[in-house]
Amino acid sequence: WKNAPRNLREVALLGQSYGTREFVIYQDERITYDGWFRAVVALAHEFHKRGIGKGDRVALAMRNQPEWPVAFFAAVTIGAVCVPLNAWWTGDELAYGLSNSGTKLLVCDEERWDRIADRRDDCPLLETVFVTRAGADRDGAEALESVIGRPTGYAELPLSGLPEVDIAPEDDATIFYTSGTTGRPKGALGTHRNLCTNILSSAYNAAFAVLRRGEDLPLPQQKTGLTVIPLFHVTACSAGLMGNIAAGNTLIFVYRWDPVEAFRIIERERVAVTGGVPTIAWQLLEHPERKNYDLSSIEAIAYGGAPAAPELVRKIREVFGALPGNGWGMTETMATVTGHSSEDYLNRPDSCGPPVAVADLRIMSEDGTRELPAGEVGELWARGPMVVKGYWNNPEATAETFVDGWVRTGDLARLDEEGWCYIADRAKDMIIRGGENIYSSEVENVLYDHPAVTDAALIGLPHQQLGEEPAAVVHLAPGMEASEDELRNWVAARLAKFKVPVRIAFSAGTLPRNANGKILKRELADFF
Ligand code: ATP
Ligand code: MG
Repeated sequence: WKNAPRNLREVALLGQSYGTREFVIYQDERITYDGWFRAVVALAHEFHKRGIGKGDRVALAMRNQPEWPVAFFAAVTIGAVCVPLNAWWTGDELAYGLSNSGTKLLVCDEERWDRIADRRDDCPLLETVFVTRAGADRDGAEALESVIGRPTGYAELPLSGLPEVDIAPEDDATIFYTSGTTGRPKGALGTHRNLCTNILSSAYNAAFAVLRRGEDLPLPQQKTGLTVIPLFHVTACSAGLMGNIAAGNTLIFVYRWDPVEAFRIIERERVAVTGGVPTIAWQLLEHPERKNYDLSSIEAIAYGGAPAAPELVRKIREVFGALPGNGWGMTETMATVTGHSSEDYLNRPDSCGPPVAVADLRIMSEDGTRELPAGEVGELWARGPMVVKGYWNNPEATAETFVDGWVRTGDLARLDEEGWCYIADRAKDMIIRGGENIYSSEVENVLYDHPAVTDAALIGLPHQQLGEEPAAVVHLAPGMEASEDELRNWVAARLAKFKVPVRIAFSAGTLPRNANGKILKRELADFF
């Protein structure tokens, strides 16, 4: 293989070259790279026969199961645009995604089909629906099994080669919807190059870290990763799936996230890499059952997508002896823009790292007219081959967010003298108390440092004169106690008085989060 892949067809062919290596493990199914590729080819031909061609939208709506990477690559290798929909969405939200993207063909599991079967009229362009893991056709939908068979049988499928289609790096490949943390989800239109950039960034970063330590580059080794975060977010699909296929790694999917099942799998399969979002890492660390399993195979726990408390970095090192990793990215950048790992991360646990080799960062004044010097907090802008062209079908939002190749991230951040990035807050989460800015993650991190606190979020409560006042919701570790006064004193001893939460509420469970590990701050007002 002379060159790094420049489109997803080349990524699929690279995957095929790993032959009988295991690609996906799911429950009792073990699928090889060759078996996966045969299923991709079979389904790509079926799509082709159904009139799916370049630029047509093919949506996915399912849990992480082996059919996900099969259907994804069947679509993108023939030049169609794949639209991975959030499996947590309700019927209404799924119908929004299908009609907004103008999807012609949908591949979904039975759970999702039950939600949208009676909403087909809201999706005028939808012609074909395939349902996975269904023994027979459903009313209005066909069984995917009739095309690709049962997953374990993939290796038997005939291999006739992919339909001939020319794909350029700049062709559209995906529409991923943003998480909808700050408003209605927007579809980010990604190209083949956007997705391939992650393969280069992760390979380059790994190699550079080794070279910088003065060591020789090791021969690439096949690793086993446990993928517990949903593939419908760019983090798992772009940063996760693409890099792992390029490296020939084995991925384990789970039906749903459960720490004890994760422990069992890690022990049984000798998993080397896991994580995804900070919450997953916390739950692995704090679970009382952890000590009953052999987790010594874990080499790295990496995450992104949401703020990670500095405390987490030290704990991962202490408890697992593993390398912690953090990456900053957003749907609009098809995942990783900064990458932070190993000793560097331990030394700067409050940073999300420097930009990857092909990205630029800058900090701009709120009105977007002035670049701010190192050390000052302003809006983070990012540029590079991972930044998408814009939002699908939404020229106004595109014009607001994408400026001269830069994406305005809506995050408040600062860069240090050496260019390392520190996220302060989302602009929309920042609390302004009588003209003083309070970055929620600063206060949250201090709360996390308290031995009894395992989950914390700061929100603004309306106040007549001050505008807003900070209030916190916390969740305490099982068996631990701390009073509201004690926690307020803890913060007061470490931060300026105006940042101390005026009220602290206790949540019986962990805080409500979306599929990507982000706390749903809008729901927290109900605690007060
Ligand atoms: P919407 O744009 O629809 O409101 P969203 O911004 O939550 O939703 P995503 O694209 O999934 O949708 O998330 C990107 C955001 O996640 C970033 O803007 C940033 O606020 C946060 N984020 C991502 N990675 C990190 C990280 N490593 N540290 C802190 N925050 C992060
Ligand atoms: Mg966003």
